[in-house]
This record gives sequence, C-alpha cells and structure tokens, in this order.
Amino acid sequence: MSYMSAASSTQGVRGQTRRQTRVLIRVVSFFFPMLSDQVTATPLTLLHRTHRPGSFHNNNMAALSRCRHRWKRNNCLHVLTRNLTGKYDYDLVVIGGGSGGLACSKEAAQLGQKVAVLDYVEPTAKGTKWGLGGTCVNVGCIPKKLMHQAALLGTAVKDAQKYGWQISGPICHDWASMADAVQNHVRSLNWGHRVQLQDKKVKYLNLRGSLLDEHTVRGLTKAGKETLLTAKNIVIATGGRPKYPTDIPGAMEHGMTSDDIFWMKTSPGKTLVVGASYVALECAGFLTGIGLDATVMVRSIALRGFDQQMAGLVTDYMEAYGTKFVKECVPKRVDKLSSGALQVTWTDTLTGSEHKDTYDSVLWAVGRAPETKALGLDKLGVQLKKESGKIIVGADESTSVPNIFAFGDIGEGRPELTPTAVKAGKLLARRLAGHGTELMNYDNVATTVFTPLEYGCVGLSEEEAEERHGKDGIEVYHAFYKPLEFSVAERDASQCYLKVVCELGGDQKILGLHFTGPNAGEVTQGFALGLQCGATYSHLLQTVGIHPTCAEELTKINITKRSGLDATVSGC
Ligand SMILES: Cc1cc2nc3c(=O)[nH]c(=O)nc-3n(C[C@H](O)[C@H](O)[C@H](O)COP(=O)(O)OP(=O)(O)OC[C@H]3O[C@@H](n4cnc5c(N)ncnc54)[C@H](O)[C@@H]3O)c2cc1C
Repeated sequence: MSYMSAASSTQGVRGQTRRQTRVLIRVVSFFFPMLSDQVTATPLTLLHRTHRPGSFHNNNMAALSRCRHRWKRNNCLHVLTRNLTGKYDYDLVVIGGGSGGLACSKEAAQLGQKVAVLDYVEPTAKGTKWGLGGTCVNVGCIPKKLMHQAALLGTAVKDAQKYGWQISGPICHDWASMADAVQNHVRSLNWGHRVQLQDKKVKYLNLRGSLLDEHTVRGLTKAGKETLLTAKNIVIATGGRPKYPTDIPGAMEHGMTSDDIFWMKTSPGKTLVVGASYVALECAGFLTGIGLDATVMVRSIALRGFDQQMAGLVTDYMEAYGTKFVKECVPKRVDKLSSGALQVTWTDTLTGSEHKDTYDSVLWAVGRAPETKALGLDKLGVQLKKESGKIIVGADESTSVPNIFAFGDIGEGRPELTPTAVKAGKLLARRLAGHGTELMNYDNVATTVFTPLEYGCVGLSEEEAEERHGKDGIEVYHAFYKPLEFSVAERDASQCYLKVVCELGGDQKILGLHFTGPNAGEVTQGFALGLQCGATYSHLLQTVGIHPTCAEELTKINITKRSGLDATVSGC
C-alpha cells in the first residue's frame, strides 16, 4: 500500500469514526441528558480520555457489539457512558474485604478517593460462613492465636502448681466455652470493620465481584442480583481458600479445613490433621494443648520453606508435648462408619504398607488455592502463574492489564501474611491517589509459627543463606538456652534454641535470625527492626540485653556452628 492510499484510508476511517461518535453521543444524550452538555462539548477529547490512542474505533465498536445482547437486561449503557465520558462511579473499586482490601480501601478514602469494597464469603463445603474481614480475622490469625492462647493457658495451669497455686480437682477444657468466646470476639471485629468503612466513607457491598473490563466490576448478590460499578482503578485482593485433595474418596464429604475448625460449636474430638504446613502444625498444636488427641500426617517434610533445623525443633517439641506424628504417609480414603467415626486408610510411602485408624474429625491442611477462578480474569487477559494460579504482579502490584492491580495472598510470590497485605494495600492506595511513590519492601519480613513451642524468624533460613552465599560464605552463631520460667516449672527446654546466620566477611551482616521459645513473635518483631536497618553481628553484641529474658540470649550469642563447641548456655 502506498503512502497516499494509506493516508486517504486513514481519513476515511476518521470520517467514519466522527459519524459513529455522533451516533454514540446521540444515544448517550437520549438516555443521560445531564451528561449531554459535557459529551457534546469536546466529544473526541472525552471519548479518547478512556481509550488508548488509535484504538478508539475498534474498542468502541467491539464494546458496542459485546454489550448488544445484554443491552436490555442490565445497565450496560450506564457503564458505556461512564467509560466514554471518563466519569466513573468510583476512583477505586476493591474486590475482597480481607486484611489487604480493607487497608487499601480505607487508606484511599482517607486520601479523598471515592471508594467501594466488595466482600463476599462463599460458604465452605460444610456450610461454614463468616463476616467481613477476610481470612485473618475470621479463619486465620485471630481465632488461631486465641485458641493457641487457650492451649498455652493449659500448660500455664500445670506450671502454676509448681509455682504454689493450689488447684483442686481435675483440670479440663470446654471447647464450647472457648469457641463461643473466640467467635464472639471475631464477630465484634466484623462489626468494627463495618463501622470503620462507614466512618471513612468507603462503600461496602456484600457482593461477589468479577471483572467485565479494566474499568468495570460486576457484583452479584447471593440471590444472583447484579450491580455494575465503574472505577478508574480496580484492585483485586481476594486472597485464597484451603484446598481439599481431589483424589481421596471421602476427603471432602467427611473432612473439614481451617475454614471450619474455628467456627465449630462442639469439640472436634480425636483429630487427624493431614499436612505439615504451619497451619497444620498450629491447629494440631492447639488441639493437643487443650487436651484433645491430635495426629499430624506428614507426607515429606514439615514447615516447607522455613529453616529445616528449626522445623525439626518445633516438631520434636510437639511430639514431646503429646501430638502424634505419622510420617512419610499419605491418606488413601476416608469412610464414615455406622458409629459415626471416620475411618482413615493411609499408605506408608516407604514400605507401601496400608494402615487404618478412626478419628472424630479429619482436617485437611494441604495448601491453599488462590481465589481467581470466578473473577473473569482470563477474558481480560490478566496473566496468572500457571503452577500456582496466582496473579502475576509487578513491584508496584500492577497486573498485565492497565488499571487493574492485585496484592496480598492472591499475588504471585507475595508472602501469605496479614501485615504484608496491609502495608502493600496502604502503599498502593497512596500511589493510586497520587500521594506517594513508595513501593512495598518484601525483604526481611518477620513471621512466627504459633506452635506449642513458638518459632519466630526474620531473613534467610540457613539453607537459603548457604544457597546464596555458599557454605563458606556464612557464619552461624547458635545457642541452646533455658527460659527462666521453665526452671521452676521443671519443663524440658531441649528445643529452646537461637540461631543467627551472618555473612562471614566484613562486619558480618545478619542475614537471618531464628528463635524458638516463649513469646517468639514479640522477640522476633524487635529484632526485625535491626535487620531492616542492616544490623551486623557486632551490632548484636553491642546491644545490651534485658535481664532476665529469653531475648537477651540473642545479644550474648557467641558459639559458631563451625567450632563444633557445645552451644548450651550455662549460668544466669
Ligand atoms: C489458619 C491460618 C492462620 C493464619 N495465621 C496468620 C498469622 O498468624 N499471621 C499472619 O500474618 N498471617 C496469618 N495467616 C495468613 C493471613 O490470614 C493472610 O495472609 C491474609 O488474610 C491475606 O489477606 P488478603 O487480603 O490477601 O486476603 P483475605 O484476608 O483472604 O481476604 C480476601 C477476601 O476476599 C473475599 N473474596 C474472595 N473472592 C471474592 C470475590 N470474587 N468477590 C468479593 N469478595 C471476594 C474473601 O471472602 C475474603 O473475605 C493465616 C492464615 C490461615 C489460613
């Protein structure tokens, strides 16, 4: 094609575009007279505002034909008008009212943005459902930590007798009382979140959201009633849900997950927990702690992704505490017996032999699946990681489609933790509102596993440090210590341990810090600041301890693994 003919064909398209534009304006003016002034003022400028250059004709014609069949049924024209005029219902629509979505929407509203947040909880296979706030509030961190506390109190009551408390009669635990108290607290948090949204002028919609285009969200009520919302930016923070195995007969029919256990009104009784993630170990840990018979079935390793020496200490302590472990085994089927008990058949992967036992409950903790399926992302071209199903995101939480962002548990490669979701959500809101450019720093995020012996860590595991710096590139300082409070209570402290992984050369920058013992979360949180500031081994030694605490042992740590010397702390 010659230059001339290309130019004349461009003019032809422009003429056609102008005619089509006039038709569109007439349609818009007919339905929305109040907008017609604005539309007719500078039609092309306004129309182009929401469309990429050069794509106006194709995009609008395609959009028109896509909408035609739904034209009568819903408010497609409303959406089209909004998109064409550059006037959206909202500056920001957030899908998912969990840790991240709530933080993001509240922050944006505080910065003057018009915001709506959609949150919808699909009941579990057992019918459990809950209120606003997402996983952490309803079926994660909060009820978990409270039930962990219930278990710790059981141990404390036993210790108390050694400290002179006279406790008459047998000590027993009542699940219903604990569950009632925990569930009431969670309900108060649900209510608190609703009030906060209202106070901050965030529109809360109890709708299941999906995307129609990069500016339009479709919300569905439980009854299937549809609402369309347009927004300049859309944020996806839909988190994940526990998975059930698909190849084990009876798994879903007779089993439950962490989405159910915290809402049970009656005790789960003798429980088999399948899986060895932190969720599995934490659940088995508090069940053991409140006096239930709990067994963990482990296929390969416990606490994958965590430092494996520390993982070993956590599970060793749990075994000594009373949790049973069935190692290198995989479940084969779950059958409900006439007595109501659940018979689990499993295979030993080493010997191939088959075993059976009966339980009152089977809890699957075999991983979590991202909540992406119902979002309609494939139609929009939002790219997902094939293996995980999570949304591929950039450092600024952007997805492969402009105006659509994702973060929290749904984001590929993001830590599945509440504080990271909250912080990332706030920073994203600030950037979208034009109030900052700061990106989320996902390095050196501290975390704690709330098992009977808590395990806190920040930075690299020993394995990761070795992989990055080589075995000869790191120095590992360690100590076995005895918490003072264990001494009078005559508790075994064999697994109370500290480990600081440093670079070998120079100032010995701290790469990772690991701690098992009481209040590990509190201890680790403090040291996380140090790592964020680039702390070195000599900074650690310059730090004066608080006596008598467990954390102070970290400021005295001086035995290297390399030396082979006994790392047991002696003396006061
Ligand atoms: C048992 C357990 C214990 C945990 N303990 C801790 C802990 O101690 N510390 C910690 O930091 N983290 C913990 N976590 C992890 C933490 O809960 C998550 O990392 C965090 O909740 C992620 O936040 P989010 O905003 O990404 O997603 P979520 O909190 O999962 O929120 C997503 C919300 O979106 C809703 N939703 C999904 N799809 C749609 C849709 N289409 N339309 C509308 N709404 C939708 C969901 O129902 C949910 O309410 C725990 C998790 C579990 C399961």
